[in-house]
Amino acid sequence: MAKGKITFNEDQCKGCGLCVTACPVKIVEMNEKKINSRGYHPAHVSEPDKCTGCANCAIMCPDVVITVYREAKKD
Ligand code: SF4
Ligand code: SF4
Repeated sequence: MAKGKITFNEDQCKGCGLCVTACPVKIVEMNEKKINSRGYHPAHVSEPDKCTGCANCAIMCPDVVITVYREAKKD
């Protein structure tokens, strides 16, 4: 299965939660333990190993907080 790696520009997150609903493997969640510089709980990934690199979360984010890297296929 394709693998992805995603990063969040956490201080730009406005806590809208759209990325949470966009993830087909349900690994994006709001980090209730953190508050960013805008005063929101930022989104993060709970189980990075499960990320497929589909980029749904990044496409959905209105503030372009998320960057998705895809591992190159070897075939
Ligand atoms: S790239 Fe796809 S699988 Fe990975 S966190 Fe985003 S929506 Fe979920
Ligand atoms: S969609 Fe973007 S702004 Fe909204 S919670 Fe996710 S990362 Fe934050």
